[in-house]
Amino acid sequence: MSVAAGREFLAIPGPTVIPDAVLAAMQRPAIDIYAGAAVALTEGLLADLKKIFRTEGRVYIYAANGHGAWEAALTNVLSRGDKVLVLESGRFAIGWGEAATMLGAQVEILPGDFRCAVRPEAVEARLKADSKREIKAILVTQIDTASGVVNDIAAISKAIRAAGHDALLLVDTVASLGCVPFEMDAWGVDLAMAGSQKGLMSPPGVGFTAAGPRALAAHKKADMRSPYWDWTFRDGEQHYHTYCGTPPEHLLFGLRAALDMMFAEGLDAVFTRHRLLAEATRRAVSVWAEGQTIAFNVTEPSERCDTVTAIVTRNGESTQPLIDYARDKCGVVLGRALGTSYGKGFRIAHMGHCNAPMLFGALGSVEMALAALNLPHGRNGVAAAVEFLAKSVPA
Ligand SMILES: *Cc1c(COP(=O)(O)O)cnc(C)c1O
Repeated sequence: MSVAAGREFLAIPGPTVIPDAVLAAMQRPAIDIYAGAAVALTEGLLADLKKIFRTEGRVYIYAANGHGAWEAALTNVLSRGDKVLVLESGRFAIGWGEAATMLGAQVEILPGDFRCAVRPEAVEARLKADSKREIKAILVTQIDTASGVVNDIAAISKAIRAAGHDALLLVDTVASLGCVPFEMDAWGVDLAMAGSQKGLMSPPGVGFTAAGPRALAAHKKADMRSPYWDWTFRDGEQHYHTYCGTPPEHLLFGLRAALDMMFAEGLDAVFTRHRLLAEATRRAVSVWAEGQTIAFNVTEPSERCDTVTAIVTRNGESTQPLIDYARDKCGVVLGRALGTSYGKGFRIAHMGHCNAPMLFGALGSVEMALAALNLPHGRNGVAAAVEFLAKSVPA
């Protein structure tokens, strides 16, 4: 028996649900890549991406996923042998650091915890101890999609300045850009990277770097540069240079439609919607957690992010039956737990193109799975989510 027929609902934290308007925008012939509409499309995207990164710096668009944009960020500003400090708060900064190691950087991890945000005091202390100023760059994620942690990038940047250190601050915004506030220039971020398929509601395959003045200066001396990622080449005069070859036109048509939707809603309204849907999710999870079987991965409530909620089992029990049930019986695809809680938890995405019925559908299906599988849980978690939104969204 199953009630899964109909459109499957993707609640994994990337790729996220692609709006119909974005899908429709891609249903068209290819166009000339040298002049006219394609050039105008690029100019518009670059100007609008600056508004989303909140920077006066330069944005570069790659035919690449997040891993590609990681490599673009590193190779443009580092030299082989440079020391890089990775701020651990889950899985993704570690992965970025692994890429840096393969590219020839010397990587040190500032140890964190899979259930906590980066501690700015620890960053300051480590940088103060770096008396020879060997650390050239710091890698951190704003939201770690595996742990569900949100890091305070402004506070980390302040800690770097408090230590009197001049390392570049590189931030992964793949799971946060266009969902929660990010202030590249105001927070003193030198280089940010992102991808198309999470908060930006677009198909996977487009990556971004946004570079501020200090990153652009470091670029001039960097020796890790390689042809495809290279900013200098991409600064060339022809449209062809901007993408180091043929632009991924259809993905860009889709991205254009997605950005149009975001600006039509208003970025502040987009952030508010994410905050409300995330809090509704947390209200439901808090109730379910009363059954003592599941818990939030992130222990400190203020460190739980607004784009994905990571849930773990208290006794290390597998959540595969719950994930299978939600998919096969309800038509909701939940995210698996990654990192140290691999297999022993699940994640509910509420990122990008998500509204109340979509979230209620996912939460209702989780509650149905908890009940059908006889997993002890507090009753009426969905009702708590509904009640919270009813109070927060006045008539
Ligand atoms: C998804 C994700 C990535 C990796 O992106 P891919 O497109 O899968 O390569 C990197 N960082 C964060 C924070 C992510 O959520």
